[in-house]
Amino acid sequence: MLALLGFLLGLAVGSFLNVVIYRLPRGQSVVRPPSHCPACGARLGPSELVPVVSYLVQGGRCRHCGARISPRYPLVELLTGGLFAAAALLRPVLWPDLVFLWAFLALLVALAFIDADTYLLPDSLTYGGLALGLAAGALGMHGGLVPALRDALLAAGLMVLVGGYGNLVLRRLRDGRPSWPVGFHQVYLAALAGALLGPLGGIALGLLNWALNWATRRGWNLPEPVSLLLLPLAAVLHPAGPLAAGEGALVAAGALALLGGLYWAFLPEPEEDDDEPVALGFGDVKLAGMLGAWASFPAFLVGLFVAVLAGAVLGLLFRRRKLPFGPYLALGGAVAVFFGDAIWRAYLASLGW
Ligand SMILES: [Zn+2]
Repeated sequence: MLALLGFLLGLAVGSFLNVVIYRLPRGQSVVRPPSHCPACGARLGPSELVPVVSYLVQGGRCRHCGARISPRYPLVELLTGGLFAAAALLRPVLWPDLVFLWAFLALLVALAFIDADTYLLPDSLTYGGLALGLAAGALGMHGGLVPALRDALLAAGLMVLVGGYGNLVLRRLRDGRPSWPVGFHQVYLAALAGALLGPLGGIALGLLNWALNWATRRGWNLPEPVSLLLLPLAAVLHPAGPLAAGEGALVAAGALALLGGLYWAFLPEPEEDDDEPVALGFGDVKLAGMLGAWASFPAFLVGLFVAVLAGAVLGLLFRRRKLPFGPYLALGGAVAVFFGDAIWRAYLASLGW
């Protein structure tokens, strides 16, 4: 019953997601005006808005002008319906688990298709999903609010550092261009300080650097090669061991990345340098933070592995140079939330732990 309810609800939500996927990147409202044909502008009546069925009855064409409707619309509806039904079978607890997981899956579908279309992951969806994950944690999912926040920061921190080392290699160890008052320089400084002083010390030093830049109207930036190359050294030599130092680095880097991203979310984007090669978009860091709020960190690692694997396979298949990572990360996120912990335990067991 719950799976059937999930399927029908998913069809309806998928129909709304089609609107979100189309309108959100264009800066249009997702509620007004009501649905209309993008070709002729005719307003769609109730009989034209039934998920999947309308598409089949109308033979995939607009009833008013005959323009072809992309088969993606019914596919998004079926995908969302299928995901909602699968979630109901895997977690048959309606409140709060299933209601929150349905919202999580809906956000993933929207993010995956928007990134595939535009190479962008809207802040409203990634930060919204992060906030929703923390709310689910406060209601007792994910072991509570603090573990949810910690895992969100770990995941975002891992992602931003992977991107940082990737960029460092692409730039042949040259320093990146700083962005004032907060940018990657403060994130990597927080990571280095977090490895040495623990997560709170790292966050404090990163925020202090941000505040200093703001107060003096100047840019004080520890060069990226310095912080990034000292970081593994600090982790290995740390008396508490590399795991504790690594955790401090990831949590501090994740916190500065997500806070800095939130700061820039409300301002016009800093000017992009198109000559600068980028290993990973910053949207992927925010999406990783969102996934970390929903999945445990080991489960997130499983999801990341799935994402990289799927991205590599499909990237080779389609031979495209610029590939949005968001759809793969979304797929990995869904796998992580439902199967990540079980896969992680099976992996450890196979190693004899
Ligand atoms: Zn039309």
